[in-house]
Amino acid sequence: MSSRQRARHAHRDSGRGPMLRRRGLLTAGLAVAASTAWPASSAVGAEDAPNLSTSRAMVAVPQPTGRPVFFYSPHQDDETLFMGQIIARHALAGREVHVVLVTDGRASAARQTINGTGINGWWKDRHYPEREGYAPLTQQQFVEARTREFVSACGQLGVWPQNVHVEGYHDSTLTPAQAASVFEKYDALYPTAGHYTMSWDDTTTDHRTLGQALRTLALANAKKWNDVRWTIKQENAHRVAGAKAYTMPSDVRLQTQELARRAARAYGAWCPASGSFAVGYHSVGPTYFPRVEKGEPNWYHGK
Ligand SMILES: [Zn+2]
Repeated sequence: MSSRQRARHAHRDSGRGPMLRRRGLLTAGLAVAASTAWPASSAVGAEDAPNLSTSRAMVAVPQPTGRPVFFYSPHQDDETLFMGQIIARHALAGREVHVVLVTDGRASAARQTINGTGINGWWKDRHYPEREGYAPLTQQQFVEARTREFVSACGQLGVWPQNVHVEGYHDSTLTPAQAASVFEKYDALYPTAGHYTMSWDDTTTDHRTLGQALRTLALANAKKWNDVRWTIKQENAHRVAGAKAYTMPSDVRLQTQELARRAARAYGAWCPASGSFAVGYHSVGPTYFPRVEKGEPNWYHGK
């Protein structure tokens, strides 16, 4: 399915009646509850049962029955790097969490690295696709590999599959009108939802375009867009008045850190034979993923 087709598919899904969606969630919930339970195989004895006081314990994500909240990720990985703990916190609280991937991420230079051109700061060597047994990725294959990482990461953050949306706009050329149309589309479908995206003062172009578009909507109609927030890279936080680290309640701090950490693993999976190319880590591996590993907080601001 192309990104566009997926987007239309997601749109159709989200147009279903609430009762139907709730029933679907109930079934999905049982499956996920079973799969997140600690493995009951003989490899894990009773003495190895998880200690619930540590972040390594199993994390139970409840049914999403609360008011919807949307997180608009400019590219595959921003939801994990800059919103991961906040997304997990809302999922753990039972909110109906949606994540929207706005662009397709096709322009990333990570494709050249994976295809054997140049040395990457994370892998610290060049790749040799022929020797390593895979064909260089076309732009479309690269986009699909990135989106697989994104979908896997959302699952780890506690987002239910039917609430993961892919828009597929070309990255680095996202326009303010396109950005605004994404917010308006989901606000029309979920009028009571809250909205998070990246800051209008973030240093990355697509991030800024999304942040500015949401800000423009909020300034024009504060009543309609009354629950809007922006996440921002820590190093950009000084650029916006009021930007601060997200204060996580102590009872969920370890769990949110752990879910973000698990989501990051989707971006480091290297197995070309099964379509995993660790694009996230090849892209910003040394820069941002260590912060997720360390459990550093996300940063955000209001309008
Ligand atoms: Zn990004």
